[in-house]
Amino acid sequence: MDPGLRSAMVPHMRSYDVIVVGGGHAGCEAAAAAARMGARTLLLTHKIETIGEMSCNPAIGGLAKGHLVREIDALDGVMAKAIDRGGIQFRILNRSKGPAVRGPRAQADRKLYRQAMQSLLAGQENLSIEAGGAEDLIVDDGHGIDGHRITGVVTGSGESIRAGAVVLTTGTFLRGLIHIGEERTPAGRVGEAPSIGLSDTLARLGFPLGRLKTGTPPRLDGRTIDWDALEKQPGDLPPPPFSYMTTRIDTPQIDCAITWTTPEAHALIRANLHRAPMYSGQITGTGPRYCPSIEDKVVRFAEKDRHQIFLEPEGLDDPTVYPNGISTSLPRDVQLGILASMPGLEKVVMIRSGYAIEYDYVDPRELKPTLETRRAPRLFLAGQINGTTGYEEAAAQGLMAGINAALAAGGNRDGFVLDRADAYIGVLIDDLIGRGTNEPYRMFTSRAEYRLLLRADNADQRLTAKGIAIGCVGSERRDVFEVKSVALAAGRTLVASLQATPVELARQGVAVNQDGVRRSAADLLRYPDIDLAALAHLWPELAGIAPEIAEQLEIDGKYAGYLGRQEADIRAFRKDESLALPDDLDVDGIGSLSAEIRQKLRQSCPATLGAAARIPGMTPAALVALLRHVKRRDSVSSGVAAE
Ligand code: FAD
Repeated sequence: MDPGLRSAMVPHMRSYDVIVVGGGHAGCEAAAAAARMGARTLLLTHKIETIGEMSCNPAIGGLAKGHLVREIDALDGVMAKAIDRGGIQFRILNRSKGPAVRGPRAQADRKLYRQAMQSLLAGQENLSIEAGGAEDLIVDDGHGIDGHRITGVVTGSGESIRAGAVVLTTGTFLRGLIHIGEERTPAGRVGEAPSIGLSDTLARLGFPLGRLKTGTPPRLDGRTIDWDALEKQPGDLPPPPFSYMTTRIDTPQIDCAITWTTPEAHALIRANLHRAPMYSGQITGTGPRYCPSIEDKVVRFAEKDRHQIFLEPEGLDDPTVYPNGISTSLPRDVQLGILASMPGLEKVVMIRSGYAIEYDYVDPRELKPTLETRRAPRLFLAGQINGTTGYEEAAAQGLMAGINAALAAGGNRDGFVLDRADAYIGVLIDDLIGRGTNEPYRMFTSRAEYRLLLRADNADQRLTAKGIAIGCVGSERRDVFEVKSVALAAGRTLVASLQATPVELARQGVAVNQDGVRRSAADLLRYPDIDLAALAHLWPELAGIAPEIAEQLEIDGKYAGYLGRQEADIRAFRKDESLALPDDLDVDGIGSLSAEIRQKLRQSCPATLGAAARIPGMTPAALVALLRHVKRRDSVSSGVAAE
């Protein structure tokens, strides 16, 4: 047996139901979720003090990412609660647009966020937390594609710890390599060692590994910025919380500021492109398309002579400022030159230079919809290791992997899966496992085809009951959810029951067609300029509705016409999703498939006909052949003659 693949038969081993490796955003959610499910869980991470560390921007949420955070919260996850404690500026982005594309965002005090996350995990029943590195996995032979089943981890100190399931959430640490100009340093994050052993283990187990890249901007000393010269950007007041469980934000709030890059900075960047690792050939991994470095922006958008940069304080008692939009791996002297050319930064002191990092990731087509790997049963992967970028994308996967690892360790093989019509979490996982990715994947509202229904405001109504049923929602949230659901149902009944004629409405200043048709308050809420406050003049009982219920009733009204159509689309989608494909689908046995389609099916192993249809390049003819094959197989196994 390969010496790296150690046997599970070591006596006196410590054991847990679930071991989560890594205390980043995926690891925190995975560990908390597995423990909430009742699994005895160990969170094993390099350093206790970096649990919940924000590697790059000190912010949570934003467009589509905010939806993910609300969904995590609806399933009783920890990210929203942590940012509500550590947030120093809250805003609803796209407030002037429709509710479906509004995105809650909060800027964090980095230290307060970390402390909040650490205290939430410390208070979590069933969860032990230990500092240490995982160097290897314990492998039992005889299972999975290549015959391996994971039964624990081997730590850097050589201890083997057994587990019913293992979740890897190692972020940017797998063979991480930092670049600053011509300098290269092996690291998982600045000042932290990379994870080499686990990367070797994954390669040995046969996982296809790729290489991606991301970057971070320099950090500035806020005391050397000329704030008075800059446009201020305040947050919303009162600050809108993320979590359905938070009633008010008590942390003091701050303003950010806006500056711009200049033609001088762009000229300096162009003159030094040969020293930029992205352009000199030193970096081979693919970077995030939607979060490009400043050198990338200057090359790709050559016609622009300036780019907007947000100056975001990193903490209430920390002078560090994060210049959002200026990620770079150019050499230090060039970084300083760029900064000094920008308004308000003429005398700025750079506390730490920006850098790029390259790291290994696993092709996410290796995963089942539960985030368990097909190759090595009982091994789950979540976060940046699956090719995503962003705290929220990582946390969403962590939550699902934690729930499913707990289920698997308890012997439940069905798992907990959300589909594309349930949640952005479902869209994220379906995209990853079906299409794979060769660049860092981030969430956008445009990726969700049912986004009118998948709104940030209704995540609890979509998901909390599912979470209660599976066992990942605690009693405190269940009680809050039940009270809100009763109030919402009562509000819906009330607005449907209150009715008036056009003449009665006109008398109260509510203008509608004088067609003699009685209209309910629910009907009237469909009009763009009518809200509950206006209707309360006519029906005073509406004034007593709590603000969060009123908001839902108004959104129900504005979307009523569209939601009916979207629900019909969802029924059609779910019909295809209900046609399950077998795990051991014999693609070679389907004669009419091309070699290319066979290869795609082997790579993605779609769980349903719907998932097969979403594989890029899949043809209608191939889908018909697949359907016929499965029907024939089903009828043979049930003893009915095939047509
Ligand atoms: P991480 O947050 O990286 O956490 C990994 C954890 O695993 C760490 O706690 C680490 O100590 C631990 N760990 C690793 N290996 C082991 C091991 N063998 N044993 C025990 N513990 C281990 N995202 C964006 O959206 N936009 C950006 O601009 C952006 N820029 C970034 C720039 C940089 C330099 C970096 C490093 C990241 C950037 N990110 C950015 C990505 C963002 O930080 C990640 O998407 C997110 O943190 C991923 O969360 P994660 O939980 O998967 O991993």
